[in-house]
Amino acid sequence: MTVRVGILGATGAVGQRLIQLLEPHPDFEIAALTASDASAGEAYRDVAKWRVDTPIPDAVAEMTVGATEPDAVPNDVDLLFSSLPSSVGAAVEPDFCEAGYVVSSNSSNSRMAADVPLIIPEVNADHLDVLEVQRDDRGWDGALVKNPNCSTITFVPTLAALTEYGLERVHVATLQAVSGAGYDGVTSMEIIDNAIPHIGGEEDKLETESKRLLGTFDGAEITQHEMEVAASCNRIATLDGHLENVWVETDEDLSPEAAKAAMADYPALDLRSSPDPLIHVFDDLDRPQPRLDRTLGDGMAVSAGGHRESTFGLQYNCLSHNTIRGAAGASVLNGELLLENGYL
Ligand code: NAP
Repeated sequence: MTVRVGILGATGAVGQRLIQLLEPHPDFEIAALTASDASAGEAYRDVAKWRVDTPIPDAVAEMTVGATEPDAVPNDVDLLFSSLPSSVGAAVEPDFCEAGYVVSSNSSNSRMAADVPLIIPEVNADHLDVLEVQRDDRGWDGALVKNPNCSTITFVPTLAALTEYGLERVHVATLQAVSGAGYDGVTSMEIIDNAIPHIGGEEDKLETESKRLLGTFDGAEITQHEMEVAASCNRIATLDGHLENVWVETDEDLSPEAAKAAMADYPALDLRSSPDPLIHVFDDLDRPQPRLDRTLGDGMAVSAGGHRESTFGLQYNCLSHNTIRGAAGASVLNGELLLENGYL
């Protein structure tokens, strides 16, 4: 039996990716689409500027976009994927949870709330049970689950593979694609022939979310990992795929070869959207590259290469597809985890 799902913010960059991933999904059936008041009441094909690389599914094209409020979503929808601007998510996601919907959200609001699971299933699936605390505290029949920022999702799985060496300090510099800012995020006049060495709020997300994701859950609360993280974020003129340069200092000795082996052997999960391998490891110093490697594992894999020793410990580069692994695919995978764990 399939779970009926809705998409909040269905007309945007991430919303379109969600439609692309959910339409063929055997466990989920798209039953509701919402967007801003400017789009509500219109046929999806008339208000979505469709830009992903497969056609709009016929059934979705003809659906009427609803308002983003609980009364506008049918009661038999159980799971909502949210790709709303974070200010909008902060305002409306709690209303949906209170009305009984389970929400798997991309938006950055509430990611660090103590009772909201921030999940990369291959890294910290056990944190999902903080939902019991959430339901007790908030009295919700529904639930709110978050996936991390797209650039956090890129480097955290590679760090998860190295935790046994004792992570002490991490420096990460990102080269992030324009799609990460949404369709209206960066104008062509700003980004062509250019790189922008600041992305508002992004550094803080990498520094805080990574420690939360690698933290431990004791059944009552999540304790953050004690590593220190410093991030520097750059927007560059690639379309999709965030590339990151990482330096890691560990307590135990960690050679480039040992790091490569740990990443290559990092276990995949038995969930439909979890790729195997999770981390593709390259021997080449000039890989991964966004255009060549972002679609590995149908866009759900992380890739890593260029492992070498440096003055600041191990150095390597990693990459993932920001609107698939970093956003829509991450939410879908969290939906699969919710289903497997009986929350739907
Ligand atoms: P986007 O392209 O700007 O799309 C925003 C969506 O939200 C549209 O469907 C829009 O509908 C809807 N919306 C805007 N204002 C609204 C309102 N007041 N009420 C209801 N709906 C409203 O943004 P995006 O890139 O898809 O990002 C969506 C979220 O995912 C953001 O929180 C972003 O930070 C997060 N995220 C994005 C990425 C990425 O790589 N792009 C990665 C990770 C996380 P209309 O078409 O009607 O305006």
